[in-house]
Amino acid sequence: MSLSLFSLAGKTALVTGARSGIGQAIAVGLAGAGADLVLTGHQDNLQETEELVRQTGQQAFSYQLDLEHPATLPEACREILEKHQVDILINNAGITIRKPAVNLAFEEWSKVMDVNLNSVFVLIQQFAGPMLERHSGKIVNIASLSSFQGGITVAPYTASKSALAGITRALSNEWASQGIQVNAIAPGYVQTNLTQPLVENPTRNSGIMARIPAGRWGRPEDLVGAAIFLASGASDFVTGHVLAVDGGWLAW
Ligand code: NAP
Repeated sequence: MSLSLFSLAGKTALVTGARSGIGQAIAVGLAGAGADLVLTGHQDNLQETEELVRQTGQQAFSYQLDLEHPATLPEACREILEKHQVDILINNAGITIRKPAVNLAFEEWSKVMDVNLNSVFVLIQQFAGPMLERHSGKIVNIASLSSFQGGITVAPYTASKSALAGITRALSNEWASQGIQVNAIAPGYVQTNLTQPLVENPTRNSGIMARIPAGRWGRPEDLVGAAIFLASGASDFVTGHVLAVDGGWLAW
């Protein structure tokens, strides 16, 4: 009984940015809990994640969704919805541009906002419609410590991730009574392609390590437990929450 609360058998989860890092780990983790996967990325490069999902015995289907162009998403989402019932939406894809704010081109600001925020809102609109008809659905946004803190020379990233925490709460308020839970996960510092420049910068790396109570960088697999929880029936009375998975960073 207790473990079956976390089962995703019979469910289909869509994960954006599923090629690498946290998105790949969450996709494979949800498959391990019994979900079939719709994997999306901005290029045709999801074969490795597909294979890892299939090794769990679950099905994997890949689609291109380029989140830099939010206006193109509704049509692409309709094509996915013609073939799949998306029960769980994991908005994982994200980018950052590290630059002092005065040197940032407006196009760079817009690109980060389009991928990290504007597209997320469009995807939620597209996939929440059928969820509302079924009175059932789970939406999990991958937020950040930058949903709570300012970060260092990452103004558009911080703006987008702070807004992501905001829409998580706003949409939870709209849909909590209609069987849809909207939550977010705020990963701490996790070693992936996104953070490789920080890992390779001795000053930033030692500062980050010294500040993490758990005494290590996170691994993409560290996010899987929280993702299964928020995707499953175990969290049916949890909504509007931003769950930090950060080795204790925010408590410090
Ligand atoms: P990652 O390995 O770089 O993953 C980012 C994913 O987003 C990649 O699969 C990437 O695809 C995809 N992506 C980039 N541009 C896209 C676009 N225009 N359209 C569609 N997909 C696009 O980094 P990660 O650390 O796992 O990041 C995953 C999420 O976690 C992000 O939202 C990030 O902000 C968040 N996060 C990460 C950390 C951390 O410490 N790593 C901390 C807090 C929050 P390609 O690989 O094909 O470019």
